[in-house]
Amino acid sequence: MVTYFSEIISGLWSLVLGLSVTFVEFIRPNVTVQYPYEKLEMPERFRGHIQLIGDEEGRPNCIVCMMCQRACPSGCISLSGKKEEGQKKKTLNSYILDFTTCSLCGSCVESCNFNALEYSKEYNLASTRKEDFIIDLLKRLEEQNS
Ligand code: SF4
Ligand code: SF4
Repeated sequence: MVTYFSEIISGLWSLVLGLSVTFVEFIRPNVTVQYPYEKLEMPERFRGHIQLIGDEEGRPNCIVCMMCQRACPSGCISLSGKKEEGQKKKTLNSYILDFTTCSLCGSCVESCNFNALEYSKEYNLASTRKEDFIIDLLKRLEEQNS
């Protein structure tokens, strides 16, 4: 008889312990999100692919000095620009990043002295097509400002 009741008490105690764990987890703040309906805010130090920085009017800060292209050990930056008549600085015409070979080393961002390049917070890149990772950064900047 004693064994019978002690087993019931032991079972109830296990139930209470189990439910207490469930309850603690139930009220603890979520650490997961309902991806893809919700998206995480990337931390400040996150390195996505590079992107151009623009001025208040959305024009790229880049002056086409080519330092980033020279600094890139993987040769994944191709850019071009030209000096319009009457202008002191060159205007950027094209800035293409081949993200298939980028190692996110950061040399390009470090080599830019004109606050024209930064890491994006882009983490949601997936494709089976190589072309999807050839990124037109000038077009991207335009789209961000439109
Ligand atoms: S280093 Fe900066 S300013 Fe020079 S070409 Fe690259 S992005 Fe433009
Ligand atoms: S992060 Fe490194 S590999 Fe990628 S584009 Fe810049 S310099 Fe090239």
